[in-house]
Amino acid sequence: MPTTLNSRCSTCKKEFKNPKGLALHKKYVQKYNQCNQELDEIPLNTINEFKNILVTEIRKKLTLGFKSMGKKLVTIPCPESIFFSVFAGHIHYYSNVKGIYRCIFRGSDAYQVLREIFNSNNWGKKNFSQNQQTYVVCIDPIPWNCDFQNQIEEIDPLEKLLQASITKHKIKRRPRFLRGEILIEWKKKTFKEINGNINKVGYLYINFYISQSINL
Ligand SMILES: [Zn+2]
Repeated sequence: MPTTLNSRCSTCKKEFKNPKGLALHKKYVQKYNQCNQELDEIPLNTINEFKNILVTEIRKKLTLGFKSMGKKLVTIPCPESIFFSVFAGHIHYYSNVKGIYRCIFRGSDAYQVLREIFNSNNWGKKNFSQNQQTYVVCIDPIPWNCDFQNQIEEIDPLEKLLQASITKHKIKRRPRFLRGEILIEWKKKTFKEINGNINKVGYLYINFYISQSINL
């Protein structure tokens, strides 16, 4: 049987040789989100306070000025149990060995999904004077390996410029995340001290693109 579209994961776009492979992938994903016995249960107030920290840090990146548009990264030290409490249900990749969790949000409902996770309507948009707004880009990303010219017609000149700079770099592998996607990762970062001490500390990384508009 040939590879069909229904053997592609709608979240990570990974392709599988057959529907069975995809089913197994989905089963693993489900397992990543199940309650982990080793992690502490976090009080709801603490979770909400942490969500507020995340929203504040994301909004700090929503600055005005066309020069500052593009790729953004928010980095926050974060215990594994807090990460799990906030993002369980949306985890799409996990490696115990590497100490990595990964969540991917994309498409037109990504803003809504993250609004529910963060308990905030304005987590990814900020209004400025003269009806200007800076926002986290939540669109279906333009396929990175598709014919660029045919896809580009409907977007504004600034976005064209950004996309052009992306395609200019002729990337063979799919980038870790595309414009329009929000990639949230939790990783253990290793710090080595001169005396040989090694510290492994959890960090949360929020990757996204921002853009700006003027509502007339
Ligand atoms: Zn997937």
